[in-house]
Amino acid sequence: MSRASVVVAALFSVGLSAGFGHAQTSKPAVEKLYILNCGEGVAGDISRWSPGLNEGKSMDFVDNCYLIKHAQGWFLWDTGIPDAVAAMPNGLAPADPKAVTWHRPKTLAAQLGELGVAAADIKAMAVSHTHPDHIGNVEMFPAAMPYVQKAEYEWPGANGAPRFKPEHPVTRLEGDHDVFGDGSVTIFSTPGHTPGHQSLLVKLPHTGAVVLTGDAVHFKSNWDNRGVPVSNTSKEQTLASMQRISETLDKEKAQLWINHDKAQRDSLKLAPAFYD
Ligand SMILES: [Zn+2]
Repeated sequence: MSRASVVVAALFSVGLSAGFGHAQTSKPAVEKLYILNCGEGVAGDISRWSPGLNEGKSMDFVDNCYLIKHAQGWFLWDTGIPDAVAAMPNGLAPADPKAVTWHRPKTLAAQLGELGVAAADIKAMAVSHTHPDHIGNVEMFPAAMPYVQKAEYEWPGANGAPRFKPEHPVTRLEGDHDVFGDGSVTIFSTPGHTPGHQSLLVKLPHTGAVVLTGDAVHFKSNWDNRGVPVSNTSKEQTLASMQRISETLDKEKAQLWINHDKAQRDSLKLAPAFYD
């Protein structure tokens, strides 16, 4: 084949790959990542997350969503506290006063709107796990098929209720998944906080590799001390997942972005600023 026909063939094959995960391009095409404010809260007693430490101490929490622009389309990681909480003047109080009282200073819908992104533009998404501060706005995206681990999907909720509305289709994973087929956005299995918890590895062109934790770890001191929250479904799996994340950080020379860590988020740029 001549050089020109190789180029034409390559363009043609890209044009033919309608779905995600079939990219024929050799260059990863992730363009940028926005951190969205998906909640702010106060934990009543952080020893719930770090047994034996900081008994009775309260701590501020944040909750992030991450919007990624890839040449093949938008990808949303986690959906945060329900947007309806923005209208609650006292926030959303937990049943257990040691847990987090959440506020929603800005809705997810408003932040997407400021970026000119409609809910219908988001064709691909995933949630780290099915706790309410991560799945609060899944139904804002009825056309998207969230990637969720089979173990999470089948984990019974309160009174045996399903974790997702049965009419909302999901893509069930059993392990890791390369979302766009070019290695730039990879879901990887990190169970322990919940049975099918997952984390995300994003390889940005200038920022480099970043691991988005979900709740594999809640804040930096827990990462440093390998603290495992009392409510996690498996301590052994949690520690193994932290080890896996640690190895991923080394291998990919990646930064660790911890979803609920307020001090870290205060040091990062929020949307409309972005990382490329
Ligand atoms: Zn959680």
